[in-house]
Amino acid sequence: PSATAEGTRVTRSTCPYCGVGCGVLIESRGDRVVGVRGDPQHPANFGRLCTKGSTLHLTANPLRQTATRLLQPMLRTSRDTPPRPVAWDQALNHVADRLAAIIRRDGPQAVGFYVSGQLLTEDYYVFHKLARGLIGTPHIDSNSRLCMSSAVVGYKLTLGADAPPACYEDLDHADCVFIAGSNTAWAHPVLFRRLEEAKARRPQMRIIVADPRRTDTCSLADLHLALQPGTDVMLFHGLLHVMEAQGWVDREYIERHTQGYEELRELAQAYPPELVAQVCAISMGDLLTAARWLAGVPEGWPAGVPLPRDRRLRTLSLYCQGLNQSTSGTAKNASLINLHLACGQIGRPGAGPLSLTGQPNAMGGREVGAMATLFSAHRDLTDAAHRLEMARLWGLLPDAALPDRPGLTAVEMFEAAARGQIKALWIACTNPAQSMPDQATVRQALDRAELVIVQEAYQTAATCQWADVLLPATTWGEKEGTVTNSERRISRVRAAVSPPRGHTGEEPWPDWRIAAEVGRRLEARLPARSAASLFPYRSPEEVWNEHRESTRGRDLDITGLSYARLEQAPQQWPCPDTAAGGSPRLYTDGRFPTPDGKARFVAFPYEPVAEDRCQRYPYALLTGRLRDQWHGMTRTATVGGLFGHVGEPVVWMHPDDLREEGLRAGDLVRLESRRGHVVLPAMPSDEVQRRQCFVPMHWGGEYLGGASSASACMGHGINGLTLPAVCPRSRQPELKHAAVRIEPARLG
Ligand code: SF4
Repeated sequence: PSATAEGTRVTRSTCPYCGVGCGVLIESRGDRVVGVRGDPQHPANFGRLCTKGSTLHLTANPLRQTATRLLQPMLRTSRDTPPRPVAWDQALNHVADRLAAIIRRDGPQAVGFYVSGQLLTEDYYVFHKLARGLIGTPHIDSNSRLCMSSAVVGYKLTLGADAPPACYEDLDHADCVFIAGSNTAWAHPVLFRRLEEAKARRPQMRIIVADPRRTDTCSLADLHLALQPGTDVMLFHGLLHVMEAQGWVDREYIERHTQGYEELRELAQAYPPELVAQVCAISMGDLLTAARWLAGVPEGWPAGVPLPRDRRLRTLSLYCQGLNQSTSGTAKNASLINLHLACGQIGRPGAGPLSLTGQPNAMGGREVGAMATLFSAHRDLTDAAHRLEMARLWGLLPDAALPDRPGLTAVEMFEAAARGQIKALWIACTNPAQSMPDQATVRQALDRAELVIVQEAYQTAATCQWADVLLPATTWGEKEGTVTNSERRISRVRAAVSPPRGHTGEEPWPDWRIAAEVGRRLEARLPARSAASLFPYRSPEEVWNEHRESTRGRDLDITGLSYARLEQAPQQWPCPDTAAGGSPRLYTDGRFPTPDGKARFVAFPYEPVAEDRCQRYPYALLTGRLRDQWHGMTRTATVGGLFGHVGEPVVWMHPDDLREEGLRAGDLVRLESRRGHVVLPAMPSDEVQRRQCFVPMHWGGEYLGGASSASACMGHGINGLTLPAVCPRSRQPELKHAAVRIEPARLG
């Protein structure tokens, strides 16, 4: 940190909220964070911050922290007694004793880890090593399953690796930006501001938004495709159908750099514009316009004349949970990437698919492989040679086998715990008692698990209620490590202050250290799996150095990114130790990380949403973020000013539906799905289509009415209504859509 004349220290770090990954300058005095500014030198934001980022220092206010932070380890010996504070040593020994007993009795597979895209890469790395390396359980998954797993599988199937090929700078070069299933204006505000500036500089840039709602993002759109929920694959195939019929695809690129186009072309024949317009509920004219802009066909280009590559305009796609959180999540991702490949819209400035990560370090978890279906540094866990490489790197004994099959993914893990198959659940830095779909099952799982370990910074997280052991973790402003943002850029996260102390004198620890300390204790209690300890780390830098060595020779090689190098500037991977710098764009030479170097077209047919509307449940419930809140609000709820935008949970409905249901603005309604209900005020909004409604995801089951609606009740939160149906390929749940009915609430 540098110090100013007034004694204020300035520490460079990264915002802990969304995947834009903005650089921040933390101002601190003593052990108090007193301010935060955007880092003008950080290439993700060049000094800009959104409302959440610019109020970060308020979340670190010690007075607020006393009320919300978990400051000392807590333990309870039975579910009927309240947890009591204990020393770190006692808590860690207790965790190690209980885990070792369960492993000895039921085997390693009885232990499940549910971690988070808000952990730093170093935290993720140690958890992964603890789960697969030491315990030998395959069951480690992350809340990134709820966020990015469809994007991961979409990239791997089409481009050969889980690597977003484009970057933020492409906004400055794109002629068309296609935003699908993303309210970028609210969920990634700083990136949206960059898009606004690009559009102001080049008004001829075309912006298309595909979203059932007319969100704030549409304020910038030249074309809004207000498609019906879940019909994205139908739309993408329809666009390809039009491109093919008009001769707008790039035949040369398809032939030289891809495989499988013929099969996709045949599939797309089944999606003529008339059908697509009808199912998606958009006009044929809009479909044609979107196809022309996406393909990069200049105005006035004569019909039937092939378009040379150097005359083709450039298209960048931004997409997020609207595509990912779906039972067709993989198909949506792959079908959008198909369009980029078909038109050669990839591997050059201003062109490419760019998935936006919801969380600050969903990418880091994917790189480390700390997810049930992934493995270290983009290795394949079903490949014996890959497992052997990691076993050697970790120093495992020859008979200490690494799990050779995928573990249970998020929804499956909680379902297995509800059935009694998973006995111990270790939940770190995430709040499944609010964020998972089908809350009734999640709560049953937490009730039934023999041992629930919750590693958290905030005692206000609903999941803490189920903890047998609470392990207090340091959080933003207090911890060191790295994160990777949506454009593969790795930034340092730095500590500006020490964590606050609890009244017993204990204090929160960094997540990687907690996992490593339990690992060392478990090594003393379980048969040896390595000659030396797997957890010799004294600092996050030592963890980082081991992680980057594990990437040597892989597509995401970061051997060139030491902490010292990252001190100078954040870098985009790959960046091997032989490279002068990071890589802004991938596949610029048309070669992809597949056996023959060619990308693959993937032909998945359109499937409707898992739970369609019917007479009994006639509304489509859409869920999503607000501009000024973050996830379950454990952090943002401590800042009063962030409630100025939206103060309490409401259900937004089309004004005609409100009228038809005999409701007035502010009336309390009961919103009910097949799984549960909530009671909320209804508000009119013409951003929502007829027979659809929107509820923000942030309020959990603990919310019992705000100032204007004392009788509102969130039941188990909005995810008490969502369903556990998952994409069969990515296992990502359909959090974005459920069928519901709406009726006036009967009170009393
Ligand atoms: Fe933080 Fe995202 Fe806002 Fe940037 S855009 S300041 S990363 S919340």
